[in-house]
Amino acid sequence: MMKCGTSIHTEKPFVHVLSSNLRDIRCDNCYAQCELLKCSACHYVKYCDKNCQKSAWNLHRSECNGFSKLPASKEVPNTARILCRLIYKLKKGGDQEKGNYDKNKFRFFKDLMSHYSDIKEDNRRMEHTISLYGLLKDLIGEGSLPNFSEFTGIYGRIVVNSFNILDGEMNNLGTGIYLGASTIDHSCEPNAVAVFRRTTITIRTIKDIPDFKWSKVRISYIDVLKQTDERKLALSEQYYFLCDCPRCNSQTFHSELENTLQCERCLSPINCSNDNVKCSKCDWVATNELLVVYNEILSFTKEQHNAMNNVAYLDACKVCLSKQKNIFHKDNILYVKTLDLAFEASIQLGMWEDALLMGDELAEGYRKYYGSIHPTLGLHYMKFGKILLLKDRIVKALEMLEKAEEILLVTHGADHELYRTELYRLLFEAKSAQYSL
Ligand SMILES: [Zn+2]
Ligand SMILES: [Zn+2]
Ligand SMILES: [Zn+2]
Ligand SMILES: [Zn+2]
Repeated sequence: MMKCGTSIHTEKPFVHVLSSNLRDIRCDNCYAQCELLKCSACHYVKYCDKNCQKSAWNLHRSECNGFSKLPASKEVPNTARILCRLIYKLKKGGDQEKGNYDKNKFRFFKDLMSHYSDIKEDNRRMEHTISLYGLLKDLIGEGSLPNFSEFTGIYGRIVVNSFNILDGEMNNLGTGIYLGASTIDHSCEPNAVAVFRRTTITIRTIKDIPDFKWSKVRISYIDVLKQTDERKLALSEQYYFLCDCPRCNSQTFHSELENTLQCERCLSPINCSNDNVKCSKCDWVATNELLVVYNEILSFTKEQHNAMNNVAYLDACKVCLSKQKNIFHKDNILYVKTLDLAFEASIQLGMWEDALLMGDELAEGYRKYYGSIHPTLGLHYMKFGKILLLKDRIVKALEMLEKAEEILLVTHGADHELYRTELYRLLFEAKSAQYSL
């Protein structure tokens, strides 16, 4: 039995690249946020000190000359940068570098699935490949590039196998290729998560895994707070497979809850995906009028969510929530997603009272879809506790922060920066405040 909260794999990246939107505030090598020095040759990348610059040079030399010719305002897309570094590294012996996993097993970069024929048939990705090939020709010169089909193979390996490198609060910092960790398959109900210390990946179990074998480990490649059809579409478009995990096969209770309205008589959830929309508790049957209204609100909500791709708007979320009230069941996944967006938007705007009103219900929703131990739930308790502390609701703040602690110790571990600094400080503040009550 592998207990939950065990770190089962740690690995440095084969290659990685800091997101270009962060290049003015974080070190290109270690991702630290501090005073930065520019590379004196290209002025494009920045480092926290000479040591970082030195250790980054091995890969940066592949792009430095190209970058030095760029106009100051020009951004190089992350995929172009990682491709550039990969091509260079593979030429300089990286093709012989082993990525270990599962005690004695290992793989080389060439062993990663390239999905070559899927990419060839995928117009969106073929266009992307062609434009990247052109961009790299300008940046590092045609002589440094492999031929186009080899290039497509490398591109395929990146888009299907790369990890988002995250900070402790699960914000995206960059992209990395981890040869060993990329052997791990996906599930919409994962038993493990990937967390990062700077650019080093650690896979940690979030459930007990009986008769542990490496092949039983599952992480989630996508955010699972999505309806089944949306998850399946995202996985097939991005990773070229059809998910047949238990949740996608409706074998778990979540699938029954995703699309539910609330029974008018006993308030139980009623699954609207069934032909007969009838309450299993009290036999109340939804009228056709109600179903029409339900479906209208469903489409309206989806439209609003899509429009909020990058930024959540509190007003739009509130309109959705008021339409959903008393019609959607509180476990309906779109209701939970709306709360999630609304909570984030309230924090952005500093509307603490709004956030406090949603905190408990959102925690319950997360628990349904992410499970009782997941970074998203732990981080939610931490943010919720922080706001409660700010508003002098000390007793409840401490309660939430202790829940956060319980979860984040499993998902991140006691030696993670997030725990050692941020959460530890909040817990200390809440405890001190409680003693002085
Ligand atoms: Zn650094
Ligand atoms: Zn440079
Ligand atoms: Zn699935
Ligand atoms: Zn009922």
